[in-house]
Amino acid sequence: MTMIESDYLLVGAGAMGLAFADTLLTELPDATITIVDRHGKPGGHWNDAYPFVTLHQPSAFYGVASLPLGSGEIDTLGLNAGFYELASGPEVSGYFDRVMRRRLLPTGRVRYLPMSEHRMDSEGQGHIVSLLSGAETPVKVRRKTIDSTWLGTTVPSTHTPKFRIGDGVRLVPPNALPDLWRNPAALPKHFTVLGAGKTAMDSLIFLLGAGADPASITWVAPRASWFFNRVKVQPGIEFFEHSVGGQLQLMLAQGTATSAADLFLRLEACGFMLRIDRAVLPEMFHYAITNEAEIAVLARVADIIRGQRVTALEADRMVLTGGERAMPPGTLYVDCTASAVERRPPVPVFQPGLIVPQMVRVPQPCFSAALIAWVEANVEGEAAQNALTSAVPLPDGIVDYPRACLVNLFNQGMWSQHSALSAWIRDCRLDGFASLIGSVTPEDSARMAVLQQLRPAAMAAMANLQVLAAQAGASRNG
Ligand SMILES: Cc1cc2nc3c(=O)[nH]c(=O)nc-3n(C[C@H](O)[C@H](O)[C@H](O)COP(=O)(O)OP(=O)(O)OC[C@H]3O[C@@H](n4cnc5c(N)ncnc54)[C@H](O)[C@@H]3O)c2cc1C
Repeated sequence: MTMIESDYLLVGAGAMGLAFADTLLTELPDATITIVDRHGKPGGHWNDAYPFVTLHQPSAFYGVASLPLGSGEIDTLGLNAGFYELASGPEVSGYFDRVMRRRLLPTGRVRYLPMSEHRMDSEGQGHIVSLLSGAETPVKVRRKTIDSTWLGTTVPSTHTPKFRIGDGVRLVPPNALPDLWRNPAALPKHFTVLGAGKTAMDSLIFLLGAGADPASITWVAPRASWFFNRVKVQPGIEFFEHSVGGQLQLMLAQGTATSAADLFLRLEACGFMLRIDRAVLPEMFHYAITNEAEIAVLARVADIIRGQRVTALEADRMVLTGGERAMPPGTLYVDCTASAVERRPPVPVFQPGLIVPQMVRVPQPCFSAALIAWVEANVEGEAAQNALTSAVPLPDGIVDYPRACLVNLFNQGMWSQHSALSAWIRDCRLDGFASLIGSVTPEDSARMAVLQQLRPAAMAAMANLQVLAAQAGASRNG
């Protein structure tokens, strides 16, 4: 049995793994990487995505640093009209396939092993196991293993629902919706979408866009959510007042808010945050990004069940934590209850012999992974590497948000003190705003005035966020 030898072993060929590999290969021109993944194609969860998924933030910020995704155009049609394009799921999958074939493999320093798993035996020896043949090949890692599976992304087509499903219940993942036309005799008279996140929103927008009557839709959304307004994350200079100006608004609110709830309300007042129903104060924030046009479509759904989760689906009814609801015969349930990313406590990114990519800037998984690769290549010693890459704890409830903002700002501050890293960030297409800031000329006094306020606003934000994060910790513990 031949041993596989490699400088780096990358487990997981998803968005983060590939963004890491791309930057590492650029920064370390001699390094070799073996990439192993259970999926048959690169792109991780995008292999399992529902057909109508798109990115929820512009393509400009997504993918690997060396290869742009999309054409950088502004959409003129549809719900994203007026904003920079959002790659569709098939575009993202095609893009990652291209990254592998055109960028990574041609370096001659990458070995890609799809449909394979990395396993350790009881003696600590790593093996790569082919999922098709079962063949096990020992692997010798000269430098480090990269565990790019940490976020544990789950999507509806691959997860197992946590509620009971009775006989005769029609429960499908969103992937099945575009195929409903195939069986006209079985077209559902009623749809019930389960889940409060972006996938549920996408499914509702798909159903309504495809002609479903809003009165035929029930939405079980246990918790209302806040959303980032997409206008604030646009890459072009014409959006400067929203994007960089929005960062200033964000920090001013962070510097003055009196509680996590107050922070969201302040951010709503300046157009940074959106919610579907202004009569409901959201409890959840997962960094989903939407816009006012999408919110207007979702507002057409009137039958929303809040504050309750489904515990069982029966042929004629839903059993919820707060009681039962009779449902029309033949209701089609759309399962959008997968958690997307797992919210686990962060671990150090750099550990002996191991790198665990996590978000060091939220919500930018690809930028985060690329930056971690840059640090691996250019910074000596685990302590110094970890000092530049504190993992941001991903929020679930709104009280978690101040801490995430604090770690985001802390990292930003650390990076700004490292001149080589700052220079890399300025040139990295995944950053988005750094090149925008760099393009402002001294003659542009209005924009210069915005830039000059960023640093003092960041200092005030850091100070107040510590208070808000401590408040949240106390409310969680008490
Ligand atoms: C619907 C959706 C839309 C999104 N839109 C955006 C967006 O617009 N912008 C944005 O920035 N982010 C977006 N995200 C988030 C982002 O794309 C990724 O979800 C996140 O970064 C996770 O990617 P990943 O590479 O960490 O994980 P994954 O894509 O899950 O990749 C991990 C890979 O590891 C493999 N694996 C796991 N364990 C093993 C093992 N033991 N051996 C071998 N292989 C293993 C899996 O097969 C998988 O391919 C979106 C996420 C979802 C779900």
